[in-house]
This record gives sequence, structure tokens and C-alpha cells, in this order.
Amino acid sequence: MTLRAYVLGTGSSGNSLLIEGEGVRILVDAGLGPRQLEARLAALGAPLDAAGIDGIVPTHHHGDHFGGVEKIARALKCPVYLHPGIHAPRVRARFPVREYAIGRRFRIGSLEVLAEHVPHDAPQVAVRVASADHAIGYATDVGRPTQGLAALLAQCDVALLEANHCTEMLAFGPYPMHLRHRVGGGLGHLSNVQTGEMAARLVGSRLGSIYLGHLSRSNNTPERALETVASAAPRMKVSVLPHGALCMLEIRRSRAFQLALPFD
Ligand SMILES: [Zn+2]
Ligand SMILES: [Zn+2]
Repeated sequence: MTLRAYVLGTGSSGNSLLIEGEGVRILVDAGLGPRQLEARLAALGAPLDAAGIDGIVPTHHHGDHFGGVEKIARALKCPVYLHPGIHAPRVRARFPVREYAIGRRFRIGSLEVLAEHVPHDAPQVAVRVASADHAIGYATDVGRPTQGLAALLAQCDVALLEANHCTEMLAFGPYPMHLRHRVGGGLGHLSNVQTGEMAARLVGSRLGSIYLGHLSRSNNTPERALETVASAAPRMKVSVLPHGALCMLEIRRSRAFQLALPFD
């Protein structure tokens, strides 16, 4: 069965990814409202009315990821899946909330979800969503590359990975000092070089294709992000998702796998 992902927004103006497969639709992050969600899905040829949404999985409570959760959950009457680091009393009071443990696989319909901690200035996770045959990883708002994140992405076919800023552009750009430290620090966002390090670690794993997202408008350009990451990991297929670009990704296995079979 095919697994598809619809990129509905990436970056500080709102993040959202709809993952669809085996008759199930999961919204990972909802940094946009129900009307935008509907319009963007319709523009991508995947209208909302037919199938609805089976669950929302926000990664953390920052507005560009969480701002639309309440309205969408209310409009679509769908459950919200929260890890213990997300405190959202209003959402809890009004909607079906399913709590899950970080690091433990759970299912939404026939799709499997796994979330792992990543460093950020709010409790934050990277997410893997898998059908029987395919898997996509999603990791934005990551302060620094970690072994746990590499392990999660190494089990995916395709990943949407943050390449937030160019270190030089951040250092000489318009941000005030405290914001530069926040973005560039270990609880902020991945620089192009750090994303390149992560991509290089993943060469030779199951992951064959990386889409760069959550690019800063002030402190990065799509060209710089792409160049830095692609040159760090020459055998990885790297593409870039500019701000506001809507697209549909079809998840395919990029390489053949041989299962380890015991002798005799
Ligand atoms: Zn963000
Ligand atoms: Zn954040």
C-alpha cells in the first residue's frame, strides 16, 4: 500500500504534514487553521471532506506547530495524541485526548507511530509514521543532532528534516543577540551544517531521501541549505521545501532490503 505525505506548511508561519496510507490520515503538527487546512489539501487534490482525519499528532506546543490543533480537532471531531510534555488543558477538556509514551510504538488505525525525544526549548519529539511497507520521518525544531534521532530516521524511507539556518547568515543577520543564541543554541534549531552531519550519518541506512524544511526566511536560503546538506552526504537524495510550497510526497522504498536469516 502506498504511503503519501502532503506538506501543508513548513517554517515559522506554520507547520503541518498530512500522512495518508491504508485508509488512515494522520495530521502531524497543526500550525494552521481548519480553513487553511481544507484549502491546501484541496489544492493538492486530497480534499478533506471525503476521509476526514483520524488523529492529530502535535510534536510540541509552540504556536507554529500547535496553533491550529484545537480548532481543527473541534471542527473535525478527531482525537489529539499528546506526549506527556505537552500541557494543553483546554484541548484535554474539550476533545478526545489519547496520551502516548515517547519511545513506545502505538497505532492510529493501521498506521504505526513512534515518537522520540529531540532537544528543543520545549518538550519536543521527532515522529516516524509507518505502514506495513513504508515509513516517513518528520523532525523539525531540533537543537542538535542526536543518536536517538539518527536511529529513528535510519528506519524511514523518506524524511522531512529541518535545515533551519545558515550559521553565517544567523551571525550577521537581523536577529537580536538573544534570539541568535536561542536559535543557534543546543535547544534551538539545526543549522545547515548540523543537518548535513545528520544526513551523512544516515548514508547507507534505509533512508534514501531527505526533504529539507523549516528553513528560516531571514537566516537561510533554499540554495544554501541544499548545497550544504547535499555536499555533506553525496549519496543521499536531498531536496528542499521552500516556505509556502505545497507538495505531495509519495513514499517509496529507495533500496532493497535483505532480512537477516539464520543459517540452518
Ligand atoms: Zn517550529
Ligand atoms: Zn519549536
